[in-house]
Amino acid sequence: MIISVASGKGGTGKTTIAVNLALSLEKNVQYLDCDVEEPNGHIFLKPKFEKTSIVGTPIPEVDESICTFCGKCAEICEYHAIIVLKGSVLVFKELCHSCAGCWLVCPVNAIRPQERELGVLEQGNVGEIEFIQGQLRIGEAMSPPLIRAVKKAMDPRKTVIIDAPPGTSCPVITAVKNSDFVILVTEPTPFGLHDLTLAVAMIRTMGIKFGVVINRSDIGHDAVQKYCEREQIPILMEIKNDRRIAEAYSRGVPMIKALPEYKTQFQQLYQEVERRVRS
Ligand code: SF4
Ligand code: SF4
Repeated sequence: MIISVASGKGGTGKTTIAVNLALSLEKNVQYLDCDVEEPNGHIFLKPKFEKTSIVGTPIPEVDESICTFCGKCAEICEYHAIIVLKGSVLVFKELCHSCAGCWLVCPVNAIRPQERELGVLEQGNVGEIEFIQGQLRIGEAMSPPLIRAVKKAMDPRKTVIIDAPPGTSCPVITAVKNSDFVILVTEPTPFGLHDLTLAVAMIRTMGIKFGVVINRSDIGHDAVQKYCEREQIPILMEIKNDRRIAEAYSRGVPMIKALPEYKTQFQQLYQEVERRVRS
């Protein structure tokens, strides 16, 4: 079973939910940190990394001694990542989505794909949990290929917990795609509700089963609960504001290690997700 933990915005406690859900299961679990711009799961789980590999993506390199400057590559590029001038071809590597269109269309084979480094893939273990994370290179914006590389390491025999990037754009869609269930983490604030509605629209479009976890559920108003009721969205778990959770977080200690009484709640969260996936 693949469970993604996502949120419409950062700072809602998404990683806290993902980490503690994984820990509550104890074994046969894979934790995939697909929040590659800011992978934080390792701070709490403290895995021992055993394997590191560089992840790249192919971008075009033009041999201008062969190029006839016909402009076909620029015409096919949806992303305006390659432009043809009189006597030269410019590649804007940060805009390139590695679709291969330009080198396939070039009539004289003047374009060769070259690997551009995006970040690293790190794999290790923490107890019985297999831990995999992507770490995007500083300043790099193209995260989906690295997220796909993290997901490629997925073991379907295990319960896979994906810590997805925040937001509702390409990276999160790449991360949650093909999940059996998405847990959307939110807070009972106007911003939390606004971003939750966007995340719900995205997940509904993708046709994935989902439910909501409300973190710090007693800090704001009940608009999130009312919204979920109106939209018939299951609230899977509510975590009240607890100073001890914040203290454990600031020390990099997972919630259920510092406060074992929460472990059962996370186990029940998993059972509820499993029940909904099977139904
Ligand atoms: S398609 Fe090939 S030959 Fe034409 S401009 Fe691009 S690189 Fe040059
Ligand atoms: S690989 Fe695709 S996105 Fe990149 S420059 Fe070529 S056509 Fe554009």
